[in-house]
Amino acid sequence: MKTQAPQNTSYDVVIIGGAIMGSSTAWFLTDNPDFNGSVLVVERDTSYQNSSTAHTNSCMRQQFSTKLNVQISQFAADFVKNLPERIGDVRVPAQVIQNYGYMYLADNDDFAKVLRENQKVQLAAGAETQLLGPEEIKERYPFYAVDDIVAGSINLKDEGYWDGGTVFDWWRRSAKDRGVEYVSNEVVAITKNEAGTLVESVTLASGEVIACGQVVNASGPRAARTAQMAGLDIPVEPRKRFTWIFSALQPLDRELPLTIDPSGVHFRQDGPKTYLAGCPADPDPAVDYDDFHMDHGRWENHVWPIIANRIPQFEAIKVVTEWAGHYAYNTFDQNAIMGPHPEVSNFIFLNGFSGHGLQQSPAMGRGTAEWLTYGAYRSLDLTSYNYARIPQNRPIIEKAII
Ligand SMILES: Cc1cc2nc3c(=O)[nH]c(=O)nc-3n(C[C@H](O)[C@H](O)[C@H](O)COP(=O)(O)OP(=O)(O)OC[C@H]3O[C@@H](n4cnc5c(N)ncnc54)[C@H](O)[C@@H]3O)c2cc1C
Repeated sequence: MKTQAPQNTSYDVVIIGGAIMGSSTAWFLTDNPDFNGSVLVVERDTSYQNSSTAHTNSCMRQQFSTKLNVQISQFAADFVKNLPERIGDVRVPAQVIQNYGYMYLADNDDFAKVLRENQKVQLAAGAETQLLGPEEIKERYPFYAVDDIVAGSINLKDEGYWDGGTVFDWWRRSAKDRGVEYVSNEVVAITKNEAGTLVESVTLASGEVIACGQVVNASGPRAARTAQMAGLDIPVEPRKRFTWIFSALQPLDRELPLTIDPSGVHFRQDGPKTYLAGCPADPDPAVDYDDFHMDHGRWENHVWPIIANRIPQFEAIKVVTEWAGHYAYNTFDQNAIMGPHPEVSNFIFLNGFSGHGLQQSPAMGRGTAEWLTYGAYRSLDLTSYNYARIPQNRPIIEKAII
C-alpha cells in the first residue's frame, strides 16, 4: 500500500473504511446543511478489490420480515431511481432497478407460513408481494420444476438488480468534490482518553496520529479488528460467499427472478444470456481476512445439480467467471449494528450488514450522518439497530435472510 498523509492533524469525523458504507456516510454528511465539520476517510485498499462492496451480487428487495427493513429498502429504491437529482449533479447517469423480483420458494408448510406472515408485513409497509401456489409459479415461469414446491412469493416493485457500483462511485466522487478528504492509509491503533470514555485519536500505518471528534467504524468484515483497537467487541466475522456467473446453451425465454431455492442456493438473471448463482461455504466458519480462495468443487458437486434440478434447461450451462467474497457476518442476529458504543460515545458502529448491506447503504449512511450531526436519527428511526441491543441481548429477528 502506498500511503498518503492527511492534510491536517485533526478532523471532526474520521471514517475507517471508504467503501459503500463509509462513502455513503461521508456523502450524507456533506449533504446536510447542519453539518459543517471536517471529514477524513481512511481506506487501506483504494482498489477496493477485496471489499464486500466489490464482491456483492448487487440486489435489492422489499421482501423483508420487519417493517423497518422494508422502509430501509424503500428509501434505497427511491434514492437509486432519482440518483442524478439526489446527488445534484447532471453528470450522474440515470439509474433503473431491474425489477425481476426475488422468488422465494417454500418446500414445506412451515416456510410457506413464514412467507404468508412476511407478506402481511410487506403489504402493510407498501410493498407489492404476491403469494403464489406451485401452479401459478409454473404458469408464470414455465422453466421451473415445482414438484416439491408448496408456495412461493415474489414482488416486482423495486426488487431485483441495481447498479451499486455507480452509486458508490458517485458518492465518493461527490463527497471529494464537496471537501471530504480520502487518504490511502490504514488505521492501526485507536487511542482513548484516560477515563476510556472517548476516542481521542487514530494512528495510521504511516505513523501520523490524527485527532478526531467522532470515529466511524465502516471497515466491513474487519469490523471486529477495528473495534478491538479501541478495546471494544462486536460480533462480526468474515464469512465466505461464492458467486458464479454462467451462460446457458439455451437461454430462458423470460427473465429469471432472483430465485431463493429451498436448498439455500440463489440464482438470477445477470445479462441477456448470462446468469448469476451464489451460496455460502459449507461448513461456514469465520475465515482469515485475506482468504478469498475459491472452492471449485462447490459448483460441480452442489450448485450446478441444484440449479439443474430446479430449471432442467440449466443442465447445459457453463461457468464464465467466479469469485469468493466476504460477508461481514453478524453472528448475533445478522442485522446492522449501528450507533455509538454505550461507554465510548464517540465510537460509532456501521457494521454487520451480512448479505444486505448494499441496499441498506443509502438509509444507513443517511442515518449515521444524522447521528454524527444531531446525536439522534431524524428521518428513519434506526435506534433499534444500535449497538446497545447486543449487551441487552435484544436480537432483531429477520426471517428473510439470504
Ligand atoms: C458475495 C456477496 C453478495 C452480496 N450480495 C448483496 C446483495 O445482493 N444485496 C445487498 O444489499 N448486499 C449484498 N451483499 C452485502 C454488501 O455487499 C455489503 O453489506 C456491503 O458492501 C458492505 O459495505 P461496507 O462498506 O460495510 O464494507 P466493505 O465493502 O467490505 O468495505 C470496508 C472497507 O474498509 C476498509 N478497511 C478495513 N479496515 C480498515 C482499516 N483499519 N483502515 C482503513 N481501511 C480499512 C476495507 O479495505 C474496505 O474497503 C453481498 C456481499 C457479498 C460478499
